[in-house]
Amino acid sequence: MTRILLLGGTGDALRIARHLGPNDVYSLAGLGKVPHDLPCAVRIGGFGGVEGLTRYIVQERIGLLVDATHPYAAQMSANAAAASGATNVPCWALRRAAWDAQEGDDWRMVGDWAELVAALKPFARPLFTVGREPLAHLHEIPSHQFWTVRMLDQHPGNARARILDARGPYTAEGERALFTSGAFDVIVSKNSGGAATEAKLDVARERGLPVIMQRRPVLPPVQRAFSGITRLIDALPK
Ligand code: NAP
Repeated sequence: MTRILLLGGTGDALRIARHLGPNDVYSLAGLGKVPHDLPCAVRIGGFGGVEGLTRYIVQERIGLLVDATHPYAAQMSANAAAASGATNVPCWALRRAAWDAQEGDDWRMVGDWAELVAALKPFARPLFTVGREPLAHLHEIPSHQFWTVRMLDQHPGNARARILDARGPYTAEGERALFTSGAFDVIVSKNSGGAATEAKLDVARERGLPVIMQRRPVLPPVQRAFSGITRLIDALPK
């Protein structure tokens, strides 16, 4: 029987985990909630780079690696592909399709944090929806800006930043209400793809708001890539 190691940390990964067996393992970095109602084992925390993951795969007799991490979790995806190469254990991956800009969208593509800050300069009230990274920069907020940062954990913020702890999926109605109360003039986003967090882009388009979009990282090739979870779940060894 093939023992599966599923690398997770996303809603899609959790859905896949519900189709695993008691012999399989669901692995989380440990940033968010830990599910306690899964049919498989759950392990938390990093493996210790490619070496640690390679060791784990061998010791635990893993026969299939499934990378269902977030499209921006590039380090973990690179480690998974490298450990797969080192052990000859195949790696499959969920490679969620990116969102495409539509008519009426005003997307401004950025790479690193410095580019993001430069693109943000003309604006006063950004909504950040890019996870924890803005927390490291709360003391650098220019005097003409007030930031709203939406992320999974709670954080006190400061005089020029408010942190909203929230978890998708988000609806257009909810996003409209938030955009109105926050008086945002720009949205900062990753190109995560998928339906759960797409409503912010629809509402930004409706309101003519620009979106500063972080470019996707390049992910390594794998033995099998799936764009959605249904096919991946159907293909899992039973
Ligand atoms: P990352 O930069 O690619 O990973 C950093 C390190 O975290 C990895 O090298 C690994 O440590 C550990 N790690 C990541 N995912 C793991 C997993 N599933 N199981 C065990 N260790 C894991 O990724 P990240 O941006 O920190 O994201 C961490 C987690 O949050 C991922 O599971 C990802 O799916 C989820 N997430 C990320 C984003 C995002 O935008 N980046 C958004 C939503 C959810 P070792 O090298 O020690 O093994």
